[in-house]
Formats: sequence, structure tokens, C-alpha cells
Amino acid sequence: MLIAMTGVSGSMGSEALAQVMEQEGVRTRVLLTPRKGNDKLEKELVKQYGARIEILRGQVYDKKTCEKLVSGADMLVNMAAVIPPRSDKDPKASYLCNYKGAVCLADAAANAAVQPKFIHISTVAVYGNRTLEHPWGRPGDPLLPAVYDHYALHKMMAERYVMERGLKNFAVLRQSAMLYEGIIFKNIHDGLLFHTTLNGPLEWVSARDSGYLIRRIAERELAGGNETFWNGVYDIAGGPQNRCTGYDTFADGFSLMGGSPKKYFKPCHCETRNFHGLWFADGALEEMFGYQRDTVKGFWEEIGKKYKFFKAAKLVPSALIRLFLFRRLLGDGNAPAKWIKEGDEGRVIAAFGGMEEALSLPRDWEDFAVADAAQWGGREARPLENCKDKLLSHGYDESKRPSEWTIEDMRAAAAFRGGACLSEKMGATPYEKLQWSCSEGHVFSASPYTVLKGGHWCPACLSEGWNFDALAQKSPFYAQVWYDSHARGENMRYWFDEEGNARFEEVAKERA
Ligand SMILES: [Zn+2]
Repeated sequence: MLIAMTGVSGSMGSEALAQVMEQEGVRTRVLLTPRKGNDKLEKELVKQYGARIEILRGQVYDKKTCEKLVSGADMLVNMAAVIPPRSDKDPKASYLCNYKGAVCLADAAANAAVQPKFIHISTVAVYGNRTLEHPWGRPGDPLLPAVYDHYALHKMMAERYVMERGLKNFAVLRQSAMLYEGIIFKNIHDGLLFHTTLNGPLEWVSARDSGYLIRRIAERELAGGNETFWNGVYDIAGGPQNRCTGYDTFADGFSLMGGSPKKYFKPCHCETRNFHGLWFADGALEEMFGYQRDTVKGFWEEIGKKYKFFKAAKLVPSALIRLFLFRRLLGDGNAPAKWIKEGDEGRVIAAFGGMEEALSLPRDWEDFAVADAAQWGGREARPLENCKDKLLSHGYDESKRPSEWTIEDMRAAAAFRGGACLSEKMGATPYEKLQWSCSEGHVFSASPYTVLKGGHWCPACLSEGWNFDALAQKSPFYAQVWYDSHARGENMRYWFDEEGNARFEEVAKERA
């Protein structure tokens, strides 16, 4: 079996490559970008795997490169990503890699003499912000990418393209918050750290388990196939032991240095909304492939033992770490504290609701109630049974399988999204496109699967920037979760101008 892969220089990709190569009967063809840093990796991979690996150098958004990559491949795994904070600073790189790359790969796969089965790695970021009001998420939930988050938006556009490309076999896997070896070192250089909401739900999965999942899928293919797996959208969940909050994550990570969030910064330094992260109600991938082995607790223990840095850091007084590390971070251009100081109103409204809201946040930990994930059901082993009444509605009879969907189901789902299904009848499969209209009057096509199981809706609305305040007013589908962290009276539209500046405007309210 020949597996083509992108993103193997990244955290998940390197794990996936190493683990599928443990499998007999697997050869790989991997795409490395031309950057010099990959020269060493290329040599190492050739040395390690010899003739079992073929290395292509090129860009994932280059048509010819993608055609070479997929030619003769049985499976294609797209793990290439430009993630925050780089995507925040270099939106063009995010667009090219996260969106254009997926387009080129899907086109190449669709046009190949023999279509490879295409696994596209997407992200939990497409779901947008969650609070403990609705911590549980699953495929089919509304996609509400955080305001000004290029990464989430480009990934959302990418997975839609993959789902709509008419491939014979695709799978979209939404990666959760991922634990990897360099996680602390990578995240103490950028204000991005403070985008995390303290009491927001997070579910972690390790890069190692994510790589193991890809290996398990490959194994199953070799053994004869994954009939029930293909043509689906899934979440790469981490499991009950890995569900926590933003605060818990900081507390776990910082404890390696002998510190805690309370020692390093103030509650008012973190965003109160506009982040992403949730607890996964569906365990479909775990049921199929049994890949969840690592726990958050075990992960931090392992990291603490492995790096002498943390032992040394424990000897440094917390006050010094606060002064030299976190105070510097608070002044970074990507830190909410910096936006407040500089009066970057659009970002402050997106992150807090407004300047007044941001300035009235507790500066003292004594005035801040830290939520306990366990109390909110986060540690429960079988969430789907336990949280049924807390799930978001998808606006149609979910007891039906996709093959049983009727045009009436489509009409009900469309109305719940504030729009309409314009088609008169269903296609031969739920993957055949229908015509729809959104609440703003745009007409678009999408397959029932993309809408009902993907959670996607109108692409024209997306192209107008982040307009979810207006859309939620007409869409009960969005409203059920949007108003957990937005006031009903808000009416903002956020976008980037041609120079890449974050812009916003208050849209005049429509009076009934
Ligand atoms: Zn629209």
C-alpha cells in the first residue's frame, strides 16, 4: 500500500509517518516544502526508511506537485497546516497551505487515474467558541469560526471543498487541541496563549495518539477496508480523561515549572470568548479504531521527566518567571492586554464584548470563580448517553440514517438555519448536491451530508467576513450556541481590509 502524506514535518504528521512505517506492507510518499530546514529531515527519512519512502519537495498548493504526490497512491493523508500564531501573522501562508493546498490535493485526487482515498485533517477550531453552557460538540454542529481567526476560516473552507469535490472516498477528521513535545516551548513566545478562555471546555489528544489513529486506519485498509468509515466527518476526540478547561491546562503545564496561572498572570488577561475548544460527544473514531491511549496527566509527567529545562525552571522564583516571561508576553501584539492598551476596538469587542467589559474583568484571582470540569460532566465516560439533553439541535430527525433522509428533512434543516431548501427532490445519495438559500438570500449548492453532518451552510455569507451576529438573529441553529457568549443586542460585522487590518462596524439593526 502506498500512502501519500503532507505535513510530515509537523507534530501530528511526524507521528503518523513514523507509526504507519511500523506497519509491514506500507510504503510512503511524502511532500516536504522546499525550505532549507527540511533538507536535514529529508536525509534522515531516507536514511531511516530507504526505498520504502519517496520524498517530493514542493508546495502543497502547486497543482503539478500534488499530481505527482497522489499518482498511484492508495491513500492520501493531508496533515499540512499553517497554524496560529503564524496564521495570524501571515494570513497569505494560511490561505495557501490550509485552503489552496486542500483544493489542489482534492483536485489531484479526483483526477487521478485511480483515486486515492483521501483523509483530510481539519480542526476543532471550525466549531468556534464554546462555554460550559454547551460544552459538548459533534459533527453537524454549527461552524462558527472565531472572529479574525484565519486558520479556522481557511480550514473550514478547505474541508467543505474536500467534502463537495465528489471524491469516491473521503474522510474529514477534525483535530482537537493537540499535545506534543514542544508545546510549552512553542507557546511561551506569543500572546496567543491568552486567547484561551479560562473556563472554556477543552479536550486534548496527543500527537502520538493522532498518529496512531492514522496507522490504525491504514492497518484496516490493508486488512480489507473500512467500509463504514469512508465518506464521513469525524472529530479526533481525546476521551474523558482528557477533558478539562483552559485554566486546568495552564495549571497542568505551568506546574512543570513549579508555577500556576495564579502566580503568572491575572484572570483579566485572558479572553472571555472568541476562542475554540469543546468536549466531544461523539466517540465514533474511538469505537472504530481504538486509538486513545495517552492521558493529559501522563503526558505532562512524561514531559516533566524528559526535559531538564523544567527542573531548572523550578528553581527560579515564580516572581521572576512572571516578570521576564509573562509580562513580556502581555505586551506582544497578539495578546488581548495589548489590544486593550492600544484601543484595538474590533479585537477587544470580539474577545470580550467591549472595552468596558474588558476593563471590568477581575484583576484578582480571589474574584474569579474557576470552573471544575468534572462538575460539568466533563469526566463522564459515555458522554453521548449522558449529555443528550445538552447537545445542540441539528434541526431534523437525527434518528434517521443519511440514506433515509427525505426532502422534508432538508426543508426542516434549512428552515432551522434561517433559509430554505430549493430543490424539489433528493439525489441518488446524500452526497449529491442540492440547491439552498440562506437567510440573506444567497443561493448556493451543497450536499445534504455537507449541511447536516458537516454543519456547513452558506459560503457567500462567509465571504462577507464574520457576520454571525446578524445571522444568529435569523438562524435558531446558530442562535442556540452563539448567545452563550454574545448579547442578543450585538450587531457587529468583522472583516479584514485589503491591507490586512482588522476592521469592524456596527450594523444598523433591522426593525420589525
Ligand atoms: Zn448567505
